Amino acid sequence: MYKANNTTLYDPELPIPLETANDYAILISRVLPYFAKLNDANKQRFLIRVYNFRKSKFFHFRGLQPNEEIAILVSAAAVQVSLGLKSYRLAFFTSIYILSDANQVWHAKELFIGHVSPTGIYISWKHFVQEFYDYTEGMNVALHEMAHALHHETFIQETGIDWDFRQDFDKLSSMYGPLMSNAVVERRSYLRGYAFTNYQEFWAVSIENFFENPQGLKDNLPQLYAILRATLNQDPLHPDELVLVG
Ligand SMILES: [Zn+2]
Repeated sequence: MYKANNTTLYDPELPIPLETANDYAILISRVLPYFAKLNDANKQRFLIRVYNFRKSKFFHFRGLQPNEEIAILVSAAAVQVSLGLKSYRLAFFTSIYILSDANQVWHAKELFIGHVSPTGIYISWKHFVQEFYDYTEGMNVALHEMAHALHHETFIQETGIDWDFRQDFDKLSSMYGPLMSNAVVERRSYLRGYAFTNYQEFWAVSIENFFENPQGLKDNLPQLYAILRATLNQDPLHPDELVLVG
């Protein structure tokens, strides 16, 4: 349905042509459950952002044919995470790499299904599909990597900085120590163990749970849920109540 091509990078936000918006909506509804729950105004905001995000990136395909639908869906995953924020284009990252499967990073022994580095955002398409298909298990590589990219953008590069996000995010750091101590003492945690690898992984794993299993996260870790809700300015339990911030 879509021709794969990388267009010139540019800055101003462009309106999305009506026909393109309709095509995007059909495609994204099929794969991202969150999109379907939004009201019309937020769907429109979502689609404009996907359109502009997509145009601002070069997509590179490794082990699979270039595919514009994949580029749109990966852009949509990024937009889902930042939908409530003012800044959403992750301007520092000009390249997104789509890999056919898990891959080795540098000389690490284990395989990765996604990672973020200064050279770009890397995602295994096989796992992207699987994890949006199993949308309730609290694991989602695309949302995970986009959360890393958003953090990198805001705190390390400061290219597309969103000050409200940054201020709210700081509150999250106070949660990490106590939750990690608790996980060690109790030998279990609502978040999977990988969250306690370091603070960055805590953030990214929390985001996966926030979107995929919001009720479970709210019931088990209500304070964390409240901070994520304020930080991202959206509530997956009430997607229609997204507070628009411009
Ligand atoms: Zn991670």
